[in-house]
Amino acid sequence: MPKILIVGGGYAGFYTAWKLEKQLRKGEADVTMVDPLPYMTYQPFLPEVAAGSIEARHSVVAHRRHLKRTHVVTAKVTKIDHAGKVATITPPEGEPYEFAYDQIVVTAGAVSRTFPIPGIADNAIGLKTIEEAVAIRDRLMSNFDKAASLPAGPARDRLLSVVVVGGGFAGIEVFAELRSLASSLVGKYPQLTFDDTHFHLIEAMGRIMPEV
Ligand SMILES: Cc1cc2nc3c(=O)[nH]c(=O)nc-3n(C[C@H](O)[C@H](O)[C@H](O)COP(=O)(O)OP(=O)(O)OC[C@H]3O[C@@H](n4cnc5c(N)ncnc54)[C@H](O)[C@@H]3O)c2cc1C
Repeated sequence: MPKILIVGGGYAGFYTAWKLEKQLRKGEADVTMVDPLPYMTYQPFLPEVAAGSIEARHSVVAHRRHLKRTHVVTAKVTKIDHAGKVATITPPEGEPYEFAYDQIVVTAGAVSRTFPIPGIADNAIGLKTIEEAVAIRDRLMSNFDKAASLPAGPARDRLLSVVVVGGGFAGIEVFAELRSLASSLVGKYPQLTFDDTHFHLIEAMGRIMPEV
C-alpha cells in the first residue's frame, strides 16, 4: 500500500488527513500524520482566547478524536531526504527513527517573525499557539492585580501598557480584543481608570491590515 506522510497537523495538515479519510477507499493508501502537538489549533480564534471571549479548549481540535483511519504520531519531523523518500521522526521520548514514504505533504506552518527588533525575541509573547494566547491573558490579568497595589507612576504605567508589534490582521484583532478586556477589567478595580491604561500599536508601514 502506498504510504502518505503528512508533516504537521495544523490547519492544512489536519484537513488533508480528514479529507483523505473521506476520499480514499479501504486499502488504497496508508496515511500517517506527524505533529509535536496532539491537536490542531484554529488560529483565527487566538485573539478571542487571549481576551477570554472564548475558552482555550474551544480553539483546538484533538487529532485522535477526529481522525479515525490516520496513524497519528505525536513527534517532530526533523529531517526529510526527499531523494531517498525517507523522513526522520523524533519523538519526545526515545530515539529518532526513519520513516519511508511514497508521498509527502509538508504543512509545518510558520513561526512568528521577530525581525532584528531588540528585546522582541526575549520579552514578547507570540500569537501562534494556544499556550501563547493563554499567556497573554494571564500576563494582562496579573498585571492589573499588581498595578492595583501601586501608586500612580512609571512602575504602574509599565504594568498597564500593552504594545502590539505588527498591524496585520492578527495584530489588529488582538489589539482590539485586549483593549476590550482591559476596559472591562478597569471596572473591577476602583483604584484604576480607563486613562491609566495605555495601548500602542507599532507598524513599520504607512497602513494597517494589508490583507484586507
Ligand atoms: C492570530 C491569527 C489569526 C488568524 N486569523 C485568520 C483568519 O481570520 N482567516 C484566515 O484565513 N487565516 C487566519 N490566520 C492564518 C491561519 O491561521 C493560517 O494561515 C493557518 O493556520 C496556516 O495553516 P498551516 O497548516 O499552514 O499551519 P499551522 O496551522 O500553523 O500548522 C502547522 C503545524 O505544524 C506543526 N509542526 C511544526 N513543525 C513541525 C515539525 N518539525 N514536524 C511536525 N509538525 C510540525 C505545528 O505544531 C502545527 O500544528 C490567522 C493566524 C493567526 C496567527
